[in-house]
Amino acid sequence: MAPIEGQKGIVTMSTPHADVSVLSPVAGADDEATPCDPKPEIEQASAYQVALGQLDRVAAFMHLDEGIHRSLRSCQRELIVHFPVQMDDGHIRIFTGFRVHHNMTKGPTKGGLRYHPSVTLDECRALAMWMTWKCALMNLPYGGAKGGVIVDPATLSPRELEKMTRRYATEISPFIGPERDIPAPDVGTNAQVMAWIMDTYSMHRGYSVPAIVTGKPVQIGGTHGREQATGLGVTYVTRALLKQRCGRSLDGVTVAIQGFGNVGSWTARTMYERGARVVAVSDKSGGVYNARGLDPRYLQQHLKEHGSLSDYPGADAISNQELLALAVDVLVPAALEGQLTRQNAAQVRATVVAEAANGPTTPEADEILADKGVLVIPDIICNAGGVVVSYFEWVQSLQAFFWDEGEVRRQMERTLLDNLEVAVGTTTRHSCDLRTAAYMIAIRRIEEALLLRGFYP
Ligand code: NAD
Repeated sequence: MAPIEGQKGIVTMSTPHADVSVLSPVAGADDEATPCDPKPEIEQASAYQVALGQLDRVAAFMHLDEGIHRSLRSCQRELIVHFPVQMDDGHIRIFTGFRVHHNMTKGPTKGGLRYHPSVTLDECRALAMWMTWKCALMNLPYGGAKGGVIVDPATLSPRELEKMTRRYATEISPFIGPERDIPAPDVGTNAQVMAWIMDTYSMHRGYSVPAIVTGKPVQIGGTHGREQATGLGVTYVTRALLKQRCGRSLDGVTVAIQGFGNVGSWTARTMYERGARVVAVSDKSGGVYNARGLDPRYLQQHLKEHGSLSDYPGADAISNQELLALAVDVLVPAALEGQLTRQNAAQVRATVVAEAANGPTTPEADEILADKGVLVIPDIICNAGGVVVSYFEWVQSLQAFFWDEGEVRRQMERTLLDNLEVAVGTTTRHSCDLRTAAYMIAIRRIEEALLLRGFYP
């Protein structure tokens, strides 16, 4: 396969599995990085290669038309921006950001915005493609998008974070819009970041445009229930599948969660409230474990006061790798992509892997887990509660007519469980796993829309 062009840091290497192009993180974009340092090679396929591999496998399985397959393999639009921000000490720092639209056949594009040091164009392409499938699977009138800035937001002051966000929003403003592309929070961003983007975009227009982003605070047109939506959705979907496949409720079910940000913490809390025993959680600094169970509310309090989970009283320290190998009923990866790989999948002892993160399981790990009889709930079903409620927020923003939280939850649960049922039915009809079924449904829906619209001109 030819290397992808147009980005710094590309290395092409052969693996025992395939000749793949992998991207090293883009260093050098940030003037404080050390671009001359030798970059370590990443020894696994990039997120985009994983996303393409998943598409290719399902396309072959469903005998997808070759032209449609080729058109879905590429991202429709990709924007790279480099922009200066004056830091608190007066010096100018150059940041690099991205916004990618994968496919807009079914409507405006929708997808999160990530602030993380390892963001790359390649990662945004993968995440945008996964958003296309997720939105189609949930029957939302959206295509997929993703964006990000190469930055560790924890290293910026609040003022620097605001300035960087406003300048990034300005740079991508020709690319976004309430009928064009609607950003939302993802790793390293939150409701405050969305509020700054909404304000910046509105200042340029001269009037308020609340529907430009979702995941914004309720006080400026956000929806009730968005902050917890992704984690609550993970809990709804996991509970439904546990009941269906294992005849169990969440009561007493043991859970380990990797990542304790928005998604991980709300998954922990909503599972705990329904009787699950959360025995381990982690963040990027490591994790904590207690076989008798942890109370997510105290964990959140500790995180707020100390900035990390380490030294949490009444629990043992545990590494992220140890957490992934715990003998629990449900393992929830809720951090970054590529966490369950061919190197560690054999060590997984969970009965169910609920993919709260996007792309946490590589295709090789998928095969190993299937051989072990582990049920993997794919990301595009498992964490879709976030985009479903983002859609509700967008509708409310456009109509300036707001729903109460009960209505948001009911509609989210119905949307998730109805589409889960369609996916489960497809696994039976086609004798395939849940990921393949979910992809087939999404791809068929996009194919139908593409054929109806035709190929312009
Ligand atoms: P977040 O920034 O709020 O939290 C990320 C968490 O992961 C933090 O606890 C961080 O410390 C931890 N983390 C980072 N690197 C890690 C590592 N190497 N090992 C262990 N933990 C690590 O982000 P979030 O919004 O909770 O997103 C988490 C995942 O969920 C991402 O894959 C994201 O794309 C996906 N997702 C988010 C939403 C949403 O609504 N926010 C919706 C769907 C999917």
